[in-house]
Amino acid sequence: MLDTRKKEISPLQCGFSAGESPLPPDPRTSPDGSPRVLAGPLSATGFKGDSPVLNLYPLYPASSIQYPVSSALGLYVHIPFCRRRCDYCAFATHAVSDASVWERYVDVLIREIEMWRGRFKAATVFFGGGTPTLLPVSLIGRVTAAIRSSFDVDPAAEWTIEGHPATLMGERGRECLGRLTQLGFNRLSLGVESVHNATLAKLSRDYDFDDVCDVVGAAREQGFSNINLDLILGWPWESDKQHRESISKACELAPTHLSVYPLKIEEGTPFFRQNVPVNPDFQADEYMATHEILQGLGWEHYEVANFARTGFRSRHNLIYWHFGDYLGLGVSAASKIGQRSFSNARDIRNYTACLREGRSPCADEEVLDAREIDRRKVIMGLRLKEGVRSNSARSLFQEDILSDFKNLDYLREETGSLRFTPSGWLVSNQLYLHAV
Ligand code: SF4
Repeated sequence: MLDTRKKEISPLQCGFSAGESPLPPDPRTSPDGSPRVLAGPLSATGFKGDSPVLNLYPLYPASSIQYPVSSALGLYVHIPFCRRRCDYCAFATHAVSDASVWERYVDVLIREIEMWRGRFKAATVFFGGGTPTLLPVSLIGRVTAAIRSSFDVDPAAEWTIEGHPATLMGERGRECLGRLTQLGFNRLSLGVESVHNATLAKLSRDYDFDDVCDVVGAAREQGFSNINLDLILGWPWESDKQHRESISKACELAPTHLSVYPLKIEEGTPFFRQNVPVNPDFQADEYMATHEILQGLGWEHYEVANFARTGFRSRHNLIYWHFGDYLGLGVSAASKIGQRSFSNARDIRNYTACLREGRSPCADEEVLDAREIDRRKVIMGLRLKEGVRSNSARSLFQEDILSDFKNLDYLREETGSLRFTPSGWLVSNQLYLHAV
């Protein structure tokens, strides 16, 4: 029997996950739902170690592996550095302000990019992290040049870069934004997190809401017409009223896209050690309020945690959600090409050593069989408002469990498709538990 009690709707269990950062599109999980890497503190030698790399591809270049790709893929580039680690963050990133470390990373990243020279077309490019805008534009430009010379990038490609508002403030920020558009970036994704100055101060984000307004204004002035803002819902010290204000104030900045994720406290983070509480009921209420407010303002709630103005869905993240092909470049980046799902070394020292020695940094690989591909397609497809073809869903879920969800208006079936309602997304993991 399906248990629908609201107290069991936990954001740690539900279908929430972020869409704008991706190693994959999800700061908390990889595109296929597997947990992301929790980066640790730097050791005296530079980086925290983990298990040795399993080199499945000892030959450089990796061109001996055949990847059947029929269409252009999404390129993800991971920049694993931030000004400081935020207390709630479990992303694969390190607080590094030493420019020589950034340069050495870019050197090996370019080696990895060149390893794939001439193999693929790219429809989208996404620089995520971490904080890509922490790096000088000259270093970012070296990476974009390597991408352009190694991949056949669609001239109309979507180029996204993630930025921390504090790295884009003032004249330096304005100049940086202008140079990024000259490099070809046409979409900016800003990690705003909250519009309330008290919350931003608690998080030591080093900017306030006025700064965010200035950065968004400067970005637009410098040519970014496609701007996403990331917000987090469920800060335990913010009221429901404040959350509603957050959504409204964010809309006043006229972004084209909003990603609204629930606060998630991961083991190993300072917030976990401080027992910062997460209230699932509160988060569920805020989630539904977000849906209602944005829908009322004409936004399209097109994915579990993502909202877009017409024509501004994230093309890069849609590749993940359609279970298309994507290539992740950089430490810990995940890829899916054809039947192969693989990811790079999670330890930056191992990643760097492999590339310096002329070996692939790939650390693990899975060859997916047809059944597994179908399963992942259904689960990823149900994240989107269109859902999936009913017969695909029925190959994974029994009729009685689908009926239970439909009777509770968590799922709707129309014209041969099955899709979650927004309240259904909150309990989507309860459906996935029943996958056969
Ligand atoms: S800036 Fe973003 S990626 Fe970096 S530590 Fe903070 S939340 Fe994590």
